[in-house]
Amino acid sequence: MDRRKFFKSAGFSLAGGSLLLNSCAPAEVMDSGISYSHLDEILSRPVLKKELFTDPVIIEQVSLLRYGGSILCRVVSSDGAEGISVSNDLYMTSLYPIFVQRVQPHFTGKDAVQLEEIMKDVYLYNYKLQGLALWLPLATAEMAVLDMLGKIAGKSMGELIGDIHHTSIPLYLANDNRGRSAEESLARIRENIGDWPFKALKFKVAGRMHSEEHPPGRSEKLIPLVRETFGNEMTLYTDANGGYSVKEAIKTGKLMEEYNYGYFEEPVPFDWYEGTKQVADALDMPLAGGEQEPSLFNFRWMIKNNALQVVQPDQFYFGGMIRSVQVARMADAAGIQCTPHMSGRGLGYLYMMHFVSVLPNAASFHEFKGFSQRFEMECPTSSLTIDEEGEIKVPTGPGLGVIIDPDFIEKHQIVKA
Ligand SMILES: [Mg+2]
Repeated sequence: MDRRKFFKSAGFSLAGGSLLLNSCAPAEVMDSGISYSHLDEILSRPVLKKELFTDPVIIEQVSLLRYGGSILCRVVSSDGAEGISVSNDLYMTSLYPIFVQRVQPHFTGKDAVQLEEIMKDVYLYNYKLQGLALWLPLATAEMAVLDMLGKIAGKSMGELIGDIHHTSIPLYLANDNRGRSAEESLARIRENIGDWPFKALKFKVAGRMHSEEHPPGRSEKLIPLVRETFGNEMTLYTDANGGYSVKEAIKTGKLMEEYNYGYFEEPVPFDWYEGTKQVADALDMPLAGGEQEPSLFNFRWMIKNNALQVVQPDQFYFGGMIRSVQVARMADAAGIQCTPHMSGRGLGYLYMMHFVSVLPNAASFHEFKGFSQRFEMECPTSSLTIDEEGEIKVPTGPGLGVIIDPDFIEKHQIVKA
Protein backbone atom coordinates (compact mmCIF):
# COMPACT_ATOMS: atom_id res chain seq x y z
CA MET A 1 0.00 0.00 0.00
CA ASP A 2 1.41 3.36 -0.97
CA ARG A 3 1.42 5.95 1.68
CA ARG A 4 1.17 9.47 0.40
CA LYS A 5 3.38 11.80 2.30
CA PHE A 6 3.80 15.40 1.35
CA PHE A 7 6.52 17.41 2.95
CA LYS A 8 5.53 21.02 3.11
CA SER A 9 7.24 23.95 4.65
CA ALA A 10 5.43 27.09 5.75
CA GLY A 11 6.88 29.02 2.82
CA PHE A 12 5.31 26.70 0.23
CA SER A 13 1.76 26.79 1.55
CA LEU A 14 -0.71 27.81 -1.15
CA ALA A 15 -4.07 28.71 0.35
CA GLY A 16 -4.36 31.77 2.60
CA GLY A 17 -6.04 29.86 5.42
CA SER A 18 -3.43 27.15 5.52
CA LEU A 19 -0.63 29.73 5.30
CA LEU A 20 -1.81 31.20 8.55
CA LEU A 21 -2.12 27.76 10.12
CA ASN A 22 1.21 26.53 8.80
CA SER A 23 3.08 29.61 9.93
CA CYS A 24 2.63 28.36 13.49
CA ALA A 25 3.46 24.75 12.62
CA PRO A 26 6.88 23.09 12.68
CA ALA A 27 9.03 23.69 9.61
CA GLU A 28 8.21 20.27 8.18
CA VAL A 29 4.58 19.21 8.11
CA MET A 30 3.21 16.04 6.57
CA ASP A 31 -0.06 16.64 4.82
CA SER A 32 -2.23 14.60 2.46
CA GLY A 33 -1.99 17.41 -0.10
CA ILE A 34 -5.75 17.96 -0.33
CA SER A 35 -7.32 21.33 0.54
CA TYR A 36 -10.06 21.86 3.11
CA SER A 37 -12.15 23.60 0.43
CA HIS A 38 -11.98 20.43 -1.71
CA LEU A 39 -13.05 18.32 1.28
CA ASP A 40 -15.88 20.74 2.02
CA GLU A 41 -17.08 20.51 -1.57
CA ILE A 42 -17.12 16.70 -1.22
CA LEU A 43 -19.13 16.96 2.00
CA SER A 44 -21.68 19.21 0.27
CA ARG A 45 -22.50 16.54 -2.37
CA PRO A 46 -25.62 14.44 -1.79
CA VAL A 47 -25.17 10.70 -1.27
CA LEU A 48 -28.65 9.16 -1.66
CA LYS A 49 -29.68 8.88 -5.31
CA LYS A 50 -32.99 10.73 -5.11
CA GLU A 51 -33.36 10.53 -8.89
CA LEU A 52 -34.37 6.87 -8.50
CA PHE A 53 -37.68 8.04 -7.01
CA THR A 54 -40.33 9.93 -8.92
CA ASP A 55 -42.83 10.26 -6.07
CA PRO A 56 -42.48 11.00 -2.37
CA VAL A 57 -42.44 7.98 -0.03
CA ILE A 58 -44.23 9.08 3.11
CA ILE A 59 -43.11 7.29 6.26
CA GLU A 60 -46.27 6.33 8.13
CA GLN A 61 -44.76 4.29 10.91
CA VAL A 62 -41.35 3.76 12.50
CA SER A 63 -41.12 1.09 15.19
CA LEU A 64 -38.35 -0.34 17.27
CA LEU A 65 -38.99 -4.04 17.89
CA ARG A 66 -37.46 -6.38 20.41
CA TYR A 67 -37.46 -10.12 20.97
CA GLY A 68 -34.94 -11.33 23.52
CA GLY A 69 -31.55 -10.17 22.31
CA SER A 70 -32.80 -9.18 18.86
CA ILE A 71 -33.61 -5.52 18.13
CA LEU A 72 -35.08 -4.54 14.78
CA CYS A 73 -36.40 -1.33 13.29
CA ARG A 74 -39.38 -1.46 10.96
CA VAL A 75 -40.52 1.43 8.76
CA VAL A 76 -43.75 1.35 6.80
CA SER A 77 -44.76 3.85 4.11
CA SER A 78 -48.26 5.19 3.50
CA ASP A 79 -48.38 2.91 0.42
CA GLY A 80 -47.50 -0.14 2.54
CA ALA A 81 -43.84 -0.47 1.53
CA GLU A 82 -41.74 -1.87 4.37
CA GLY A 83 -38.11 -1.77 5.42
CA ILE A 84 -36.32 -3.60 8.22
CA SER A 85 -32.96 -3.03 9.84
CA VAL A 86 -31.22 -5.27 12.34
CA SER A 87 -29.66 -3.11 15.00
CA ASN A 88 -26.54 -3.59 17.08
CA ASP A 89 -28.31 -5.02 20.13
CA LEU A 90 -25.20 -4.80 22.33
CA TYR A 91 -25.67 -1.03 22.60
CA MET A 92 -29.33 -0.59 21.62
CA THR A 93 -30.44 -2.44 24.74
CA SER A 94 -29.19 0.68 26.57
CA LEU A 95 -29.84 3.33 23.90
CA TYR A 96 -33.44 2.55 22.94
CA PRO A 97 -34.87 5.57 24.85
CA ILE A 98 -32.80 7.88 22.61
CA PHE A 99 -34.22 6.14 19.57
CA VAL A 100 -37.81 6.29 20.75
CA GLN A 101 -37.75 9.79 22.24
CA ARG A 102 -35.29 11.68 20.10
CA VAL A 103 -34.86 9.95 16.70
CA GLN A 104 -38.07 8.16 15.75
CA PRO A 105 -40.36 11.25 15.92
CA HIS A 106 -38.27 13.04 13.25
CA PHE A 107 -38.97 10.30 10.70
CA THR A 108 -42.72 9.85 11.13
CA GLY A 109 -44.75 11.64 8.45
CA LYS A 110 -41.67 12.66 6.42
CA ASP A 111 -40.74 11.83 2.84
CA ALA A 112 -38.16 9.02 2.99
CA VAL A 113 -36.59 10.29 -0.26
CA GLN A 114 -35.46 13.33 1.77
CA LEU A 115 -33.54 10.99 4.10
CA GLU A 116 -30.42 13.15 4.21
CA GLU A 117 -32.44 16.21 5.21
CA ILE A 118 -34.25 14.20 7.90
CA MET A 119 -30.89 13.07 9.28
CA LYS A 120 -29.65 16.66 9.39
CA ASP A 121 -32.77 17.58 11.40
CA VAL A 122 -32.13 14.72 13.82
CA TYR A 123 -28.57 15.96 14.30
CA LEU A 124 -29.60 19.56 14.81
CA TYR A 125 -32.08 18.48 17.47
CA ASN A 126 -29.59 16.16 19.16
CA TYR A 127 -26.11 17.53 18.45
CA LYS A 128 -25.26 17.72 22.17
CA LEU A 129 -25.57 13.93 22.23
CA GLN A 130 -23.12 13.41 19.36
CA GLY A 131 -21.30 10.11 19.78
CA LEU A 132 -22.21 6.46 19.51
CA ALA A 133 -25.22 7.12 21.79
CA LEU A 134 -26.85 9.23 19.08
CA TRP A 135 -25.37 7.74 15.93
CA LEU A 136 -26.26 4.12 16.59
CA PRO A 137 -30.01 4.79 17.00
CA LEU A 138 -29.94 7.09 13.95
CA ALA A 139 -28.09 4.46 11.89
CA THR A 140 -30.74 1.91 12.90
CA ALA A 141 -33.49 4.15 11.48
CA GLU A 142 -31.47 5.11 8.38
CA MET A 143 -30.78 1.49 7.45
CA ALA A 144 -34.47 0.54 7.76
CA VAL A 145 -35.38 3.48 5.48
CA LEU A 146 -32.70 2.45 2.97
CA ASP A 147 -34.03 -1.13 3.01
CA MET A 148 -37.51 0.22 2.22
CA LEU A 149 -36.26 2.59 -0.51
CA GLY A 150 -34.22 -0.23 -2.05
CA LYS A 151 -37.30 -2.43 -2.23
CA ILE A 152 -39.30 0.39 -3.87
CA ALA A 153 -36.59 1.18 -6.45
CA GLY A 154 -35.52 -2.45 -6.97
CA LYS A 155 -31.96 -1.51 -6.00
CA SER A 156 -29.52 -2.90 -3.48
CA MET A 157 -28.57 -0.74 -0.53
CA GLY A 158 -25.23 -0.05 -2.22
CA GLU A 159 -26.87 1.08 -5.47
CA LEU A 160 -28.84 3.69 -3.53
CA ILE A 161 -25.70 5.36 -2.16
CA GLY A 162 -23.06 4.89 -4.86
CA ASP A 163 -21.83 3.00 -7.89
CA ILE A 164 -20.97 -0.66 -7.48
CA HIS A 165 -17.20 -1.22 -7.51
CA HIS A 166 -17.13 -4.64 -5.83
CA THR A 167 -19.52 -7.57 -6.20
CA SER A 168 -17.57 -9.77 -3.80
CA ILE A 169 -15.81 -8.73 -0.59
CA PRO A 170 -12.38 -10.13 0.38
CA LEU A 171 -12.26 -10.65 4.13
CA TYR A 172 -9.77 -10.65 6.93
CA LEU A 173 -10.41 -12.54 10.11
CA ALA A 174 -10.42 -10.36 13.23
CA ASN A 175 -9.20 -12.08 16.36
CA ASP A 176 -10.36 -10.61 19.64
CA ASN A 177 -8.05 -12.41 21.95
CA ARG A 178 -6.08 -10.57 24.69
CA GLY A 179 -4.70 -11.48 28.10
CA ARG A 180 -2.96 -14.70 27.07
CA SER A 181 0.67 -15.47 26.38
CA ALA A 182 2.00 -15.05 22.82
CA GLU A 183 1.99 -18.85 22.36
CA GLU A 184 -1.58 -19.25 23.63
CA SER A 185 -2.69 -16.29 21.50
CA LEU A 186 -1.17 -17.88 18.42
CA ALA A 187 -2.97 -21.15 19.17
CA ARG A 188 -6.28 -19.23 19.38
CA ILE A 189 -5.61 -17.45 16.09
CA ARG A 190 -4.90 -20.78 14.36
CA GLU A 191 -8.03 -22.27 15.86
CA ASN A 192 -10.14 -19.30 14.67
CA ILE A 193 -8.86 -19.56 11.13
CA GLY A 194 -9.40 -23.32 11.04
CA ASP A 195 -9.88 -24.39 7.41
CA TRP A 196 -11.16 -21.03 6.24
CA PRO A 197 -9.13 -19.74 3.28
CA PHE A 198 -8.40 -16.29 4.70
CA LYS A 199 -5.55 -14.39 3.11
CA ALA A 200 -5.42 -11.75 5.84
CA LEU A 201 -5.86 -11.59 9.59
CA LYS A 202 -5.81 -9.06 12.38
CA PHE A 203 -4.97 -9.58 16.01
CA LYS A 204 -4.85 -7.47 19.16
CA VAL A 205 -1.72 -5.95 20.62
CA ALA A 206 -1.14 -3.82 23.77
CA GLY A 207 -3.74 -3.41 26.53
CA ARG A 208 -7.05 -1.79 25.54
CA MET A 209 -7.16 2.03 25.94
CA HIS A 210 -3.79 2.27 27.59
CA SER A 211 -4.45 -0.32 30.24
CA GLU A 212 -1.63 -2.64 31.26
CA GLU A 213 -0.70 -5.29 28.71
CA HIS A 214 -1.11 -8.80 30.05
CA PRO A 215 1.13 -10.72 30.17
CA PRO A 216 3.87 -8.10 29.80
CA GLY A 217 5.87 -8.41 26.57
CA ARG A 218 3.10 -10.38 24.79
CA SER A 219 2.89 -8.13 21.69
CA GLU A 220 6.64 -7.91 21.16
CA LYS A 221 6.79 -11.69 21.05
CA LEU A 222 3.57 -12.24 19.10
CA ILE A 223 4.33 -9.89 16.17
CA PRO A 224 7.32 -11.92 14.85
CA LEU A 225 5.68 -15.22 15.86
CA VAL A 226 2.53 -14.67 13.76
CA ARG A 227 4.59 -13.66 10.72
CA GLU A 228 6.85 -16.69 11.06
CA THR A 229 3.86 -18.99 11.52
CA PHE A 230 1.76 -17.79 8.57
CA GLY A 231 4.56 -16.84 6.17
CA ASN A 232 4.89 -13.91 3.82
CA GLU A 233 1.74 -14.72 1.83
CA MET A 234 -0.56 -13.76 4.71
CA THR A 235 -1.47 -10.07 5.06
CA LEU A 236 -1.21 -9.14 8.74
CA TYR A 237 -2.73 -6.26 10.66
CA THR A 238 -2.68 -5.41 14.35
CA ASP A 239 -5.11 -3.44 16.49
CA ALA A 240 -3.91 -1.75 19.69
CA ASN A 241 -7.37 -0.32 20.65
CA GLY A 242 -5.60 2.81 21.86
CA GLY A 243 -3.21 0.81 24.01
CA TYR A 244 0.06 2.69 23.56
CA SER A 245 1.73 5.98 24.30
CA VAL A 246 3.27 7.70 21.26
CA LYS A 247 6.72 6.41 22.15
CA GLU A 248 5.53 2.81 22.65
CA ALA A 249 3.44 2.92 19.46
CA ILE A 250 6.41 4.05 17.39
CA LYS A 251 8.56 1.27 18.86
CA THR A 252 5.91 -1.40 18.14
CA GLY A 253 5.22 0.08 14.70
CA LYS A 254 8.88 -0.20 13.77
CA LEU A 255 8.83 -3.86 14.81
CA MET A 256 5.79 -4.42 12.56
CA GLU A 257 7.56 -2.66 9.69
CA GLU A 258 10.42 -5.09 10.12
CA TYR A 259 7.95 -7.98 9.77
CA ASN A 260 6.06 -6.42 6.87
CA TYR A 261 2.68 -5.79 8.52
CA GLY A 262 -0.10 -4.15 6.49
CA TYR A 263 -1.40 -1.54 8.91
CA PHE A 264 -1.45 -0.61 12.58
CA GLU A 265 -4.91 0.17 13.98
CA GLU A 266 -5.62 2.69 16.78
CA PRO A 267 -2.06 2.81 18.16
CA VAL A 268 -2.94 5.46 20.75
CA PRO A 269 -6.34 6.41 22.27
CA PHE A 270 -8.62 7.22 19.31
CA ASP A 271 -9.43 10.74 20.47
CA TRP A 272 -5.79 11.71 20.95
CA TYR A 273 -5.45 13.26 17.51
CA GLU A 274 -2.05 14.90 17.92
CA GLY A 275 -0.67 11.62 19.31
CA THR A 276 -2.06 9.69 16.33
CA LYS A 277 -0.47 12.17 13.95
CA GLN A 278 2.89 11.97 15.73
CA VAL A 279 2.87 8.18 15.33
CA ALA A 280 1.84 8.47 11.67
CA ASP A 281 4.64 10.93 10.96
CA ALA A 282 7.25 8.73 12.63
CA LEU A 283 6.32 5.49 10.83
CA ASP A 284 6.42 4.40 7.21
CA MET A 285 3.62 1.85 7.66
CA PRO A 286 -0.02 3.01 7.36
CA LEU A 287 -2.10 3.77 10.44
CA ALA A 288 -5.76 2.75 10.48
CA GLY A 289 -8.48 4.20 12.67
CA GLY A 290 -11.88 5.80 12.95
CA GLU A 291 -14.12 3.05 14.37
CA GLN A 292 -14.80 5.17 17.46
CA GLU A 293 -14.78 8.50 15.65
CA PRO A 294 -18.12 10.31 15.93
CA SER A 295 -17.33 13.51 14.03
CA LEU A 296 -17.16 14.32 10.31
CA PHE A 297 -14.99 17.35 11.16
CA ASN A 298 -12.48 15.16 12.95
CA PHE A 299 -12.30 12.76 9.99
CA ARG A 300 -11.84 15.81 7.76
CA TRP A 301 -8.92 16.95 9.92
CA MET A 302 -7.30 13.50 10.04
CA ILE A 303 -7.61 13.05 6.27
CA LYS A 304 -6.27 16.52 5.49
CA ASN A 305 -3.38 16.09 7.91
CA ASN A 306 -2.56 12.50 6.93
CA ALA A 307 -2.97 11.34 10.54
CA LEU A 308 -4.59 8.14 9.23
CA GLN A 309 -3.79 6.33 5.99
CA VAL A 310 -6.74 3.93 6.29
CA VAL A 311 -10.11 5.17 7.58
CA GLN A 312 -12.51 2.77 9.31
CA PRO A 313 -15.93 4.29 9.97
CA ASP A 314 -18.40 1.86 11.55
CA GLN A 315 -21.78 2.10 9.81
CA PHE A 316 -23.62 1.81 13.14
CA TYR A 317 -21.31 3.77 15.45
CA PHE A 318 -20.98 6.61 12.94
CA GLY A 319 -24.67 7.18 12.17
CA GLY A 320 -25.29 5.12 9.06
CA MET A 321 -24.32 4.31 5.51
CA ILE A 322 -24.66 7.87 4.19
CA ARG A 323 -22.33 9.52 6.72
CA SER A 324 -19.84 6.67 6.24
CA VAL A 325 -19.86 7.27 2.47
CA GLN A 326 -19.00 10.92 3.13
CA VAL A 327 -15.89 9.82 5.04
CA ALA A 328 -14.92 7.36 2.29
CA ARG A 329 -15.33 10.05 -0.38
CA MET A 330 -13.06 12.48 1.49
CA ALA A 331 -10.49 9.73 1.95
CA ASP A 332 -10.66 8.74 -1.72
CA ALA A 333 -9.95 12.30 -2.83
CA ALA A 334 -6.85 12.30 -0.60
CA GLY A 335 -5.62 8.90 -1.85
CA ILE A 336 -6.51 7.23 1.47
CA GLN A 337 -8.10 3.79 1.68
CA CYS A 338 -11.27 2.88 3.53
CA THR A 339 -12.26 -0.32 5.27
CA PRO A 340 -15.16 -0.20 7.69
CA HIS A 341 -15.07 -1.38 11.25
CA MET A 342 -17.71 -4.05 11.48
CA SER A 343 -20.27 -4.02 14.26
CA GLY A 344 -19.98 -7.61 15.38
CA ARG A 345 -23.62 -8.18 16.29
CA GLY A 346 -26.74 -8.93 14.30
CA LEU A 347 -26.15 -8.64 10.56
CA GLY A 348 -23.21 -6.22 10.78
CA TYR A 349 -21.34 -8.10 8.06
CA LEU A 350 -24.13 -7.48 5.54
CA TYR A 351 -24.18 -3.71 6.11
CA MET A 352 -20.38 -3.77 5.89
CA MET A 353 -20.58 -5.58 2.52
CA HIS A 354 -23.07 -3.16 0.96
CA PHE A 355 -20.94 -0.24 2.13
CA VAL A 356 -17.71 -1.71 0.75
CA SER A 357 -19.44 -2.55 -2.55
CA VAL A 358 -19.50 1.18 -3.43
CA LEU A 359 -15.94 2.10 -2.39
CA PRO A 360 -13.50 2.90 -5.20
CA ASN A 361 -10.87 3.21 -2.47
CA ALA A 362 -11.68 -0.02 -0.62
CA ALA A 363 -8.74 -1.56 1.22
CA SER A 364 -7.63 -5.03 0.10
CA PHE A 365 -9.46 -6.92 2.89
CA HIS A 366 -12.43 -6.22 5.17
CA GLU A 367 -13.30 -7.13 8.70
CA PHE A 368 -15.12 -10.36 9.44
CA LYS A 369 -16.05 -11.57 12.92
CA GLY A 370 -18.25 -14.54 12.10
CA PHE A 371 -21.86 -15.13 10.99
CA SER A 372 -24.84 -14.55 13.23
CA GLN A 373 -26.79 -17.75 13.83
CA ARG A 374 -29.72 -15.92 15.37
CA PHE A 375 -31.54 -14.93 12.20
CA GLU A 376 -33.81 -17.12 10.23
CA MET A 377 -33.52 -15.60 6.79
CA GLU A 378 -33.10 -16.28 3.11
CA CYS A 379 -30.80 -14.63 0.63
CA PRO A 380 -31.78 -15.46 -2.96
CA THR A 381 -28.77 -13.70 -4.56
CA SER A 382 -25.83 -14.86 -2.44
CA SER A 383 -25.01 -18.05 -0.54
CA LEU A 384 -23.55 -15.80 2.20
CA THR A 385 -20.69 -18.21 2.61
CA ILE A 386 -16.98 -17.66 2.30
CA ASP A 387 -15.65 -18.96 -1.02
CA GLU A 388 -12.25 -20.50 -1.72
CA GLU A 389 -10.78 -17.03 -2.30
CA GLY A 390 -11.82 -15.92 1.20
CA GLU A 391 -14.58 -13.68 -0.19
CA ILE A 392 -18.36 -13.33 0.21
CA LYS A 393 -20.62 -12.32 -2.66
CA VAL A 394 -22.60 -9.15 -1.99
CA PRO A 395 -26.38 -9.74 -2.19
CA THR A 396 -27.86 -7.97 -5.23
CA GLY A 397 -31.51 -8.15 -4.23
CA PRO A 398 -33.39 -4.99 -3.22
CA GLY A 399 -32.44 -3.19 0.00
CA LEU A 400 -30.39 -5.33 2.36
CA GLY A 401 -31.01 -8.25 -0.01
CA VAL A 402 -32.23 -10.74 2.58
CA ILE A 403 -35.70 -11.87 3.58
CA ILE A 404 -35.96 -12.28 7.34
CA ASP A 405 -38.52 -14.91 8.32
CA PRO A 406 -41.82 -13.01 8.92
CA ASP A 407 -42.69 -15.40 11.77
CA PHE A 408 -39.45 -14.44 13.49
CA ILE A 409 -40.22 -10.72 13.04
CA GLU A 410 -43.71 -11.26 14.43
CA LYS A 411 -42.27 -12.60 17.68
CA HIS A 412 -40.90 -9.09 18.40
CA GLN A 413 -42.71 -6.57 20.59
CA ILE A 414 -42.79 -2.82 19.99
CA VAL A 415 -40.33 -1.00 22.28
CA LYS A 416 -41.63 2.03 24.14
CA ALA A 417 -39.45 4.54 25.97
MG1 LIG B 1 -10.40 -1.93 16.14
